[in-house]
Amino acid sequence: MPSDSLLAPDTAGVRDPAEVLRHVFGYEAFRGRQAEIVRHVTEGGDALVLMPTGGGKSLCYQIPALARQGTGIVVSPLIALMHDQVQALRQLGVRAAALNSALAPGEARQVERALALGELDLLYVAPERLLTDGFLTLLQGARIALFAIDEAHCVSQWGHDFRPEYRQLTVLHERFPSVPRIALTATADGPTRREIVERLGLEEGRVFLSSFDRPNIRYRIAPKNQPRQQLRAFLDTHEGEAGIIYCMSRAKVEATAEALNTEGRVALPYHAGLSAEVRARHQDRFLKEDGIVMVATIAFGMGIDKPDVRFVAHLDLPKSVESYYQETGRAGRDGLPSETLMLYGMEDVAKLVQFVDASDAPDARKRVERAKLDALIGLCETASCRRTVMLAYFDETLPEPCGNCDTCLEPVRTYDGTERVRKLLSCVYRTGERFGAVHVVDVLIGNTNDKVAKFGHEALSTFGIGKDVSREEWRAIVRQVVSLGLLNVDVEGHGALGLTESCRPVLRGERTVELKAEARTRPARVSGGGRAPRAALDDPGDEALYQKLRALRLDLARAQGVPPYVIFHDATLMEIARVRPRSLAAFGDVSGVGEAKLERYGPQFLEVVRGG
Ligand code: ADP
Ligand code: ZN
Repeated sequence: MPSDSLLAPDTAGVRDPAEVLRHVFGYEAFRGRQAEIVRHVTEGGDALVLMPTGGGKSLCYQIPALARQGTGIVVSPLIALMHDQVQALRQLGVRAAALNSALAPGEARQVERALALGELDLLYVAPERLLTDGFLTLLQGARIALFAIDEAHCVSQWGHDFRPEYRQLTVLHERFPSVPRIALTATADGPTRREIVERLGLEEGRVFLSSFDRPNIRYRIAPKNQPRQQLRAFLDTHEGEAGIIYCMSRAKVEATAEALNTEGRVALPYHAGLSAEVRARHQDRFLKEDGIVMVATIAFGMGIDKPDVRFVAHLDLPKSVESYYQETGRAGRDGLPSETLMLYGMEDVAKLVQFVDASDAPDARKRVERAKLDALIGLCETASCRRTVMLAYFDETLPEPCGNCDTCLEPVRTYDGTERVRKLLSCVYRTGERFGAVHVVDVLIGNTNDKVAKFGHEALSTFGIGKDVSREEWRAIVRQVVSLGLLNVDVEGHGALGLTESCRPVLRGERTVELKAEARTRPARVSGGGRAPRAALDDPGDEALYQKLRALRLDLARAQGVPPYVIFHDATLMEIARVRPRSLAAFGDVSGVGEAKLERYGPQFLEVVRGG
């Protein structure tokens, strides 16, 4: 169904972007900076777009590509992502295709022919393909609406996703100087941003920087006390929903998935030790079935466009605040309420420190990695708003506490902990700065065991000076003191605690230390903060209808072999359940119902509404 049948162009051959948004995508209004960006690119300007995951980057190039004459060429590094986008666009009646190594030669030739004949609105291309002489020549003969460079941070050598071919994309500007270029990324930091501008030759373009806040994501971070129970309590509030659980090791991924399956969840493992075939199968099920839990190492998630991931849990510490932000960011792309949980313990910190230290990276790099780890510990131990701390890390200031993180929902009391901290510091000193948290706490609470006996630590003046405080509480104090930089975790690699320069004023009685009032041993279940955020409907009748609509969507998706969300998003089905449109015209007014989907699916969904 050609999209040009939908809308008439103006005299210059350009369609109104707002009309494209309404008719093709079925959305009423642009979000955030989309309107500005779309106008700028449609008028032929270059742009760099920095927007968080779920911010709506795709529309920023898809709409100008449809509004302008010719084909929009989208450079994308991930085949899975291209495939997803093309499927979603075709559902909208847009003429979209992809060119990558996954195509048979015959199919590729067909796509190239369609391009030459001007029969495509959008074409997704892998960078190495784009840069071939053959393809560039083909482009020379075609009419091009724009070039979109997705995941533009791949041009940066410092990022995790460096792709050398991205460096050569400047050729686009040289060969096609009058075609607008738009580069997009969800990577926020300044150095990467500057590198993209420089490497892609975008100095003349406009930079559109959005807030990196994801207000629909609720952040929770808790000490790892009883991880099984903590995870179960968290999952109980997310029954039937799709989510991702990250673990550090393959063994733990397997064990966790197995445990969840025996508890009645559908959980699938995903890690680099599984065959490519098994991984592909699990990923496919995660996308196409409802309510699957993916238990994975960080190998999973990059390039996954699934909009209805409702939760992300970290059973081990991520590598840095950036990784935490990116990984949790896979939740709630559709803007509906979503929740994250991170469990962390001192052992994790020690492990990561060892990891950094044992690597053969140059010292400067190691220092950077250590600083990143410290920032992460600071985020874990903060008594203030998590979102404020996290965004501050990206140089963004939140005007006030967010009200949607654990510290906002269940504020933490603090007390003057100077005396306790001094006891801890002297115990670390007396034991020779050679032991980890477990042993130091044993000495503090006066626990006699083999190790204490072996080193004669019963004889120390600090033996048992902390027996009025529980082991749990002491461990919480150790974590806080480390996060305050008064103790560090040993660089040599055994997790030993050592004193830092900054602990002197405390020991001399010149500085007091505020500590959090309780070891936060509560399970992840919400206590003071009300119910877990649910992407569900309040009215039971609406909820029942919503579930029927979901069932129909799943049937339609299965029949076509596509993920359910490319047919309609959850938010669209929820609105249908709430509004209960009675006519096709009313159905067409629902957000997310464009003309192609109205025609294709409207009657069937209306029938369910009438029956429900
Ligand atoms: P990103 O690529 O930035 O992660 P997407 O382009 O996938 O984000 O968009 C995220 C979600 O928001 C998608 O489900 C998309 O359909 C939806 N969306 C984007 N822009 C709008 C809008 N103007 N109105 C309604 N929904 C939108
Ligand atoms: Zn908050």
